[in-house]
Amino acid sequence: MKSIFPVDEPPSRLSFTYSTLMVLLFIAACQYKKETHTTTATPVIKDSAILSKADIISCSIPPKKTSKRKKIYLTFDDGPNKGTRTVLDIMKEEQIPATFFLVGEHAIGSTEQKELMDSLRSLQTIELCNHSYSHAHNKFDKFYMQPDSVLADFDKARAVLQLTCMTARTPGRNIWRIDSINGTDIKASKAAADTLQKYGYQLVGWDMEWHFEAKTMQLTKTANELKMQIDSLFMRNKVKQENHLVLLAHDQAYRSPSNIEELQKLVRSLKQDDNYDLELIKNYPGLSKN
Ligand SMILES: [Zn+2]
Repeated sequence: MKSIFPVDEPPSRLSFTYSTLMVLLFIAACQYKKETHTTTATPVIKDSAILSKADIISCSIPPKKTSKRKKIYLTFDDGPNKGTRTVLDIMKEEQIPATFFLVGEHAIGSTEQKELMDSLRSLQTIELCNHSYSHAHNKFDKFYMQPDSVLADFDKARAVLQLTCMTARTPGRNIWRIDSINGTDIKASKAAADTLQKYGYQLVGWDMEWHFEAKTMQLTKTANELKMQIDSLFMRNKVKQENHLVLLAHDQAYRSPSNIEELQKLVRSLKQDDNYDLELIKNYPGLSKN
Protein backbone atom coordinates (compact mmCIF):
# COMPACT_ATOMS: atom_id res chain seq x y z
CA MET A 1 0.00 0.00 0.00
CA LYS A 2 1.33 3.38 -0.94
CA SER A 3 2.28 5.63 1.96
CA ILE A 4 1.17 9.21 1.95
CA PHE A 5 4.77 10.08 2.67
CA PRO A 6 7.66 9.12 0.39
CA VAL A 7 9.43 6.06 1.87
CA ASP A 8 12.85 7.45 1.32
CA GLU A 9 12.38 10.72 3.13
CA PRO A 10 10.91 11.49 6.58
CA PRO A 11 7.93 13.82 6.83
CA SER A 12 8.88 17.43 7.08
CA ARG A 13 8.35 19.26 10.39
CA LEU A 14 5.69 21.42 8.74
CA SER A 15 3.62 18.48 7.48
CA PHE A 16 3.93 16.73 10.90
CA THR A 17 2.69 19.86 12.67
CA TYR A 18 -0.15 20.16 10.16
CA SER A 19 -1.24 16.55 10.67
CA THR A 20 -1.09 16.88 14.45
CA LEU A 21 -3.20 20.04 14.25
CA MET A 22 -5.84 18.29 12.14
CA VAL A 23 -6.01 15.38 14.59
CA LEU A 24 -6.39 17.77 17.54
CA LEU A 25 -9.09 19.72 15.70
CA PHE A 26 -10.95 16.46 14.95
CA ILE A 27 -10.83 15.39 18.65
CA ALA A 28 -11.96 18.85 19.75
CA ALA A 29 -14.85 18.76 17.27
CA CYS A 30 -15.96 15.35 18.55
CA GLN A 31 -15.76 16.53 22.14
CA TYR A 32 -17.78 19.64 21.29
CA LYS A 33 -20.40 17.57 19.53
CA LYS A 34 -20.64 15.22 22.54
CA GLU A 35 -21.01 18.15 24.96
CA THR A 36 -23.56 19.81 22.71
CA HIS A 37 -25.60 16.60 22.59
CA THR A 38 -25.40 16.24 26.39
CA THR A 39 -26.40 19.87 26.83
CA THR A 40 -29.49 19.58 24.70
CA ALA A 41 -30.49 16.26 26.27
CA THR A 42 -30.24 17.50 29.86
CA PRO A 43 -33.52 19.52 30.07
CA VAL A 44 -35.52 16.44 29.15
CA ILE A 45 -34.60 14.79 32.42
CA LYS A 46 -34.80 17.95 34.56
CA ASP A 47 -37.50 17.82 37.27
CA SER A 48 -39.68 20.41 35.60
CA ALA A 49 -39.90 18.37 32.46
CA ILE A 50 -40.64 15.01 34.07
CA LEU A 51 -44.26 13.94 33.45
CA SER A 52 -46.16 12.91 36.52
CA LYS A 53 -47.75 9.46 36.62
CA ALA A 54 -51.16 11.10 36.31
CA ASP A 55 -50.03 12.99 33.18
CA ILE A 56 -48.88 9.77 31.61
CA ILE A 57 -52.16 8.03 32.46
CA SER A 58 -54.25 10.94 31.23
CA CYS A 59 -52.40 10.90 27.95
CA SER A 60 -52.54 7.18 27.36
CA ILE A 61 -56.19 6.56 28.41
CA PRO A 62 -59.06 8.51 26.87
CA PRO A 63 -60.87 10.60 29.52
CA LYS A 64 -63.73 8.66 31.13
CA LYS A 65 -67.21 10.00 30.56
CA THR A 66 -68.25 11.96 33.63
CA SER A 67 -70.55 9.72 35.64
CA LYS A 68 -73.62 11.87 35.99
CA ARG A 69 -75.90 9.15 34.76
CA LYS A 70 -79.17 8.70 36.55
CA LYS A 71 -80.19 5.32 37.91
CA ILE A 72 -83.50 3.62 37.13
CA TYR A 73 -84.65 0.54 39.02
CA LEU A 74 -87.24 -1.52 37.15
CA THR A 75 -89.35 -3.47 39.64
CA PHE A 76 -92.17 -5.92 38.86
CA ASP A 77 -94.68 -6.91 41.53
CA ASP A 78 -96.99 -9.82 42.32
CA GLY A 79 -95.38 -12.66 40.37
CA PRO A 80 -94.94 -15.35 39.59
CA ASN A 81 -98.14 -15.14 37.58
CA LYS A 82 -99.40 -14.75 34.03
CA GLY A 83 -97.14 -12.13 32.52
CA THR A 84 -94.01 -13.03 34.47
CA ARG A 85 -92.62 -15.27 31.72
CA THR A 86 -93.00 -12.51 29.14
CA VAL A 87 -91.40 -9.89 31.35
CA LEU A 88 -88.55 -12.25 32.12
CA ASP A 89 -88.01 -13.04 28.42
CA ILE A 90 -87.87 -9.33 27.54
CA MET A 91 -85.38 -8.63 30.32
CA LYS A 92 -83.28 -11.59 29.19
CA GLU A 93 -83.39 -10.63 25.52
CA GLU A 94 -82.55 -6.99 26.20
CA GLN A 95 -80.05 -7.93 28.94
CA ILE A 96 -81.72 -5.61 31.39
CA PRO A 97 -81.41 -5.90 35.18
CA ALA A 98 -84.80 -6.10 36.88
CA THR A 99 -86.12 -6.80 40.36
CA PHE A 100 -89.15 -8.99 40.99
CA PHE A 101 -91.11 -8.59 44.22
CA LEU A 102 -92.73 -12.01 44.55
CA VAL A 103 -95.78 -13.27 46.40
CA GLY A 104 -95.15 -16.52 48.31
CA GLU A 105 -98.59 -17.95 47.64
CA HIS A 106 -98.11 -17.46 43.89
CA ALA A 107 -94.83 -19.35 43.86
CA ILE A 108 -96.48 -22.62 44.92
CA GLY A 109 -99.75 -22.16 43.05
CA SER A 110 -99.06 -24.50 40.11
CA THR A 111 -96.36 -26.47 38.32
CA GLU A 112 -96.08 -23.62 35.84
CA GLN A 113 -95.44 -21.13 38.63
CA LYS A 114 -92.83 -23.40 40.19
CA GLU A 115 -91.09 -23.60 36.81
CA LEU A 116 -91.24 -19.83 36.61
CA MET A 117 -89.48 -19.65 39.95
CA ASP A 118 -86.70 -21.86 38.59
CA SER A 119 -86.34 -19.55 35.56
CA LEU A 120 -86.30 -16.45 37.76
CA ARG A 121 -83.61 -17.93 40.00
CA SER A 122 -81.42 -18.95 37.05
CA LEU A 123 -80.71 -15.42 35.80
CA GLN A 124 -77.98 -13.36 37.44
CA THR A 125 -79.40 -10.10 36.06
CA ILE A 126 -82.60 -10.69 38.03
CA GLU A 127 -83.06 -9.95 41.72
CA LEU A 128 -85.81 -11.62 43.76
CA CYS A 129 -87.39 -9.93 46.77
CA ASN A 130 -90.23 -10.45 49.22
CA HIS A 131 -93.73 -9.06 48.56
CA SER A 132 -95.43 -11.03 51.39
CA TYR A 133 -96.97 -14.50 51.34
CA SER A 134 -100.66 -13.64 51.08
CA HIS A 135 -100.58 -10.15 49.50
CA ALA A 136 -103.04 -9.41 52.31
CA HIS A 137 -105.60 -11.07 50.00
CA ASN A 138 -106.02 -7.47 48.90
CA LYS A 139 -107.66 -6.49 52.21
CA PHE A 140 -104.96 -4.06 53.15
CA ASP A 141 -106.51 -2.03 55.97
CA LYS A 142 -107.27 -5.13 58.02
CA PHE A 143 -103.91 -6.72 57.22
CA TYR A 144 -101.83 -3.82 58.51
CA MET A 145 -103.77 -3.56 61.75
CA GLN A 146 -101.96 -6.66 63.04
CA PRO A 147 -98.20 -6.09 62.92
CA ASP A 148 -97.31 -9.55 64.26
CA SER A 149 -99.38 -11.25 61.56
CA VAL A 150 -97.75 -9.05 58.93
CA LEU A 151 -94.33 -10.12 60.17
CA ALA A 152 -95.34 -13.80 60.14
CA ASP A 153 -96.68 -13.38 56.59
CA PHE A 154 -93.38 -11.96 55.33
CA ASP A 155 -91.38 -14.63 57.17
CA LYS A 156 -93.51 -17.33 55.53
CA ALA A 157 -92.94 -15.83 52.08
CA ARG A 158 -89.23 -15.69 52.75
CA ALA A 159 -89.18 -19.40 53.54
CA VAL A 160 -91.36 -20.40 50.58
CA LEU A 161 -89.47 -18.24 48.11
CA GLN A 162 -86.13 -19.36 49.62
CA LEU A 163 -84.93 -15.78 49.81
CA THR A 164 -81.66 -14.94 51.48
CA CYS A 165 -81.99 -11.16 51.32
CA MET A 166 -84.33 -9.13 53.52
CA THR A 167 -85.42 -6.59 50.91
CA ALA A 168 -89.21 -6.43 50.78
CA ARG A 169 -92.14 -4.39 49.51
CA THR A 170 -95.40 -4.07 51.37
CA PRO A 171 -98.51 -5.00 49.34
CA GLY A 172 -100.82 -2.09 48.60
CA ARG A 173 -98.64 0.42 50.42
CA ASN A 174 -95.77 2.69 49.37
CA ILE A 175 -93.66 2.26 52.48
CA TRP A 176 -89.94 2.88 52.88
CA ARG A 177 -87.76 1.64 55.71
CA ILE A 178 -84.11 1.81 54.63
CA ASP A 179 -81.10 3.68 56.03
CA SER A 180 -81.70 6.73 53.83
CA ILE A 181 -85.52 6.89 53.72
CA ASN A 182 -88.30 6.40 56.25
CA GLY A 183 -91.79 6.93 54.86
CA THR A 184 -95.31 5.55 55.22
CA ASP A 185 -98.06 6.57 52.79
CA ILE A 186 -100.99 5.48 54.98
CA LYS A 187 -100.22 6.08 58.65
CA ALA A 188 -102.35 3.17 59.92
CA SER A 189 -99.69 0.86 58.44
CA LYS A 190 -96.85 2.46 60.40
CA ALA A 191 -96.73 0.00 63.30
CA ALA A 192 -96.60 -2.99 60.96
CA ALA A 193 -93.83 -1.39 58.90
CA ASP A 194 -91.85 -0.59 62.05
CA THR A 195 -92.20 -4.21 63.18
CA LEU A 196 -90.89 -5.49 59.86
CA GLN A 197 -87.95 -3.12 60.11
CA LYS A 198 -87.28 -4.15 63.70
CA TYR A 199 -86.92 -7.75 62.56
CA GLY A 200 -84.47 -6.90 59.82
CA TYR A 201 -86.62 -6.21 56.75
CA GLN A 202 -85.67 -3.34 54.46
CA LEU A 203 -88.79 -1.95 52.85
CA VAL A 204 -88.61 -0.38 49.39
CA GLY A 205 -91.49 1.55 47.84
CA TRP A 206 -91.46 3.33 44.48
CA ASP A 207 -91.19 6.74 42.82
CA MET A 208 -93.62 6.15 39.99
CA GLU A 209 -95.95 3.44 38.77
CA TRP A 210 -96.87 2.24 35.30
CA HIS A 211 -100.60 1.89 35.89
CA PHE A 212 -103.03 -0.31 33.98
CA GLU A 213 -106.81 -0.38 33.83
CA ALA A 214 -108.15 -3.10 36.14
CA LYS A 215 -110.95 -4.11 33.75
CA THR A 216 -109.21 -4.03 30.39
CA MET A 217 -105.65 -4.57 31.67
CA GLN A 218 -104.55 -1.89 29.21
CA LEU A 219 -101.64 0.33 30.22
CA THR A 220 -102.75 3.86 31.00
CA LYS A 221 -99.63 5.35 29.40
CA THR A 222 -97.62 4.43 26.34
CA ALA A 223 -93.89 3.78 26.61
CA ASN A 224 -93.20 7.22 25.13
CA GLU A 225 -95.47 8.94 27.62
CA LEU A 226 -93.92 7.03 30.50
CA LYS A 227 -90.41 7.88 29.33
CA MET A 228 -91.36 11.57 29.22
CA GLN A 229 -92.74 11.29 32.74
CA ILE A 230 -89.49 9.69 33.92
CA ASP A 231 -87.45 12.49 32.30
CA SER A 232 -89.71 15.05 33.92
CA LEU A 233 -89.47 13.53 37.42
CA PHE A 234 -85.70 13.59 37.23
CA MET A 235 -85.65 17.12 35.86
CA ARG A 236 -87.90 18.41 38.65
CA ASN A 237 -86.10 16.21 41.21
CA LYS A 238 -89.42 14.66 42.23
CA VAL A 239 -87.79 11.41 43.29
CA LYS A 240 -87.07 10.05 46.76
CA GLN A 241 -83.34 10.35 46.22
CA GLU A 242 -81.74 12.65 43.67
CA ASN A 243 -80.78 10.85 40.45
CA HIS A 244 -82.46 7.58 41.51
CA LEU A 245 -85.89 6.45 40.37
CA VAL A 246 -87.74 3.26 41.31
CA LEU A 247 -90.37 2.27 38.74
CA LEU A 248 -93.18 -0.03 39.80
CA ALA A 249 -94.86 -2.23 37.22
CA HIS A 250 -96.92 -5.41 37.49
CA ASP A 251 -96.12 -8.66 35.67
CA GLN A 252 -99.78 -9.38 34.97
CA ALA A 253 -100.13 -6.27 32.81
CA TYR A 254 -97.78 -7.67 30.16
CA ARG A 255 -99.92 -10.30 28.47
CA SER A 256 -101.56 -8.55 25.53
CA PRO A 257 -99.38 -8.00 22.45
CA SER A 258 -99.85 -4.22 22.64
CA ASN A 259 -98.71 -4.00 26.28
CA ILE A 260 -95.77 -6.33 25.62
CA GLU A 261 -94.73 -4.09 22.75
CA GLU A 262 -94.89 -1.02 25.01
CA LEU A 263 -92.67 -2.70 27.61
CA GLN A 264 -90.16 -3.59 24.91
CA LYS A 265 -90.23 0.00 23.66
CA LEU A 266 -89.69 1.39 27.15
CA VAL A 267 -86.71 -0.79 28.04
CA ARG A 268 -85.08 -0.15 24.66
CA SER A 269 -85.48 3.61 24.95
CA LEU A 270 -84.11 3.59 28.51
CA LYS A 271 -81.21 1.40 27.44
CA GLN A 272 -80.34 3.73 24.56
CA ASP A 273 -80.55 6.90 26.63
CA ASP A 274 -77.07 7.99 27.74
CA ASN A 275 -78.54 9.75 30.76
CA TYR A 276 -79.66 6.51 32.37
CA ASP A 277 -78.32 3.30 33.83
CA LEU A 278 -80.62 0.43 34.76
CA GLU A 279 -79.86 -1.16 38.13
CA LEU A 280 -80.99 -3.86 40.53
CA ILE A 281 -82.69 -2.65 43.68
CA LYS A 282 -79.83 -3.95 45.84
CA ASN A 283 -77.75 -1.06 44.44
CA TYR A 284 -80.21 1.62 45.59
CA PRO A 285 -78.43 3.96 48.04
CA GLY A 286 -79.28 3.31 51.66
CA LEU A 287 -79.97 -0.40 51.29
CA SER A 288 -77.69 -2.51 53.45
CA LYS A 289 -76.21 -5.58 51.83
CA ASN A 290 -77.96 -8.45 53.55
ZN1 LIG B 1 -98.58 -6.15 45.00
